[in-house]
Amino acid sequence: MENRFVYADNAATTPVSREVVEAMTPYLTEFWGNPSSMYSKGREARCGLDRARETVAEKLGCAPGEVYFTSCGTEADNWAVKGGARYMRDKKGRSRVITTAIEHPAVLRSCEALEREGFTVTYVKVKNNGVVDMDEMAKAITDDVAIVAVMLANNEIGTIQPVAEIAKIAHAHGALMFTDAVQAVGAIPVDVKALGVDMLSMSGHKLNAPKGVGALYMKKGIKIYKYLDGGGQERMMRSGTENVAGIVGLATALSNAVDRLPDMERVRKMRDRLADYILANIPHTIYNGDPVERLPGNLNISFEFIEGESLLLLLDMAGICISTGSACSSNSLEPSHVLLAIGLPAEKAHGSMRVSLSHLNTDEDVDYIIEKLPGIVKRLRDMSPIYPGDDNI
Ligand code: PLP
Repeated sequence: MENRFVYADNAATTPVSREVVEAMTPYLTEFWGNPSSMYSKGREARCGLDRARETVAEKLGCAPGEVYFTSCGTEADNWAVKGGARYMRDKKGRSRVITTAIEHPAVLRSCEALEREGFTVTYVKVKNNGVVDMDEMAKAITDDVAIVAVMLANNEIGTIQPVAEIAKIAHAHGALMFTDAVQAVGAIPVDVKALGVDMLSMSGHKLNAPKGVGALYMKKGIKIYKYLDGGGQERMMRSGTENVAGIVGLATALSNAVDRLPDMERVRKMRDRLADYILANIPHTIYNGDPVERLPGNLNISFEFIEGESLLLLLDMAGICISTGSACSSNSLEPSHVLLAIGLPAEKAHGSMRVSLSHLNTDEDVDYIIEKLPGIVKRLRDMSPIYPGDDNI
């Protein structure tokens, strides 16, 4: 097969779709008013903002008044976790936070900030398949818990967590329930009512909208501290002139992603074909995460005796984009905290590869990865001083 470009890192970011660009463009060129201005130029922008909020609400299964736009998924995570925990401490005297060992750094670092303020944070373990240990979770959630923060789908190994079940336990103990659904929204059906969560975060650039726009669902009646002080936008909770074009882009992208959810079955089949091929044909490989409770496009494999960074660079030279660890932490040489949490030793975690396919990938893309990957893995192993050869293990 001749050389091609295969983008297989959709968990890191996605290209902005043509429909999204088309939906956004009028809000950059024509309806560029400030949505808070009362004259017609402002009202045009306000109209786009209101419509976008209605679309996001409809697709997440909530009311428009329960959607707050943010500048990214990280901001929505910080706001929910810190704003929720601090409010519950000040108003209800609760000073414990429950999360898991495999959350995104946006949640983990927020929890650490809370620890520095005196909160006690419990990082509940996950089982070897990456699914949270529900016995430990149930034990951890007590009546002094302010907030439980458990991601819906993991960004590295794609595992889907039993969030609805955890939400029931959290609520039985009077705690807030937040889920980071940045990787899940657009990849699997997400309905905030079915999940029973109080707050849920999402991000535009994971579903073919631009970077720099996100949203936080906050159930009506839930009280947390506001995020930014200022002119009172987002119903006084998150000030700052709204990124109208980005928000219109996010709503369009979300709507398109939800409409094409049935196509994720094709993505799942491509992912499984790639996984089956690798496991059957490349020796000394480890499949990370759960084969079923998993995002359809995510595959995470460890190749023993090689470094993920070298694999990434050689695949890049062949025109294939994948990641090792998560994009946000890939400029660190620390082994992935997620892979360590599922029990992988550091040296095996170092040799990991995350492939994340989307609706834009084709069978030819998978064929091309299958054509290039085995030779690259072999080449790296042949250069490795610690590789004893396929027959000697
Ligand atoms: N949460 C998860 C699970 C993610 O995968 C990411 C991005 O990688 C984020 C949060 C942060 O989103 P953003 O890049 O919009 O800040």
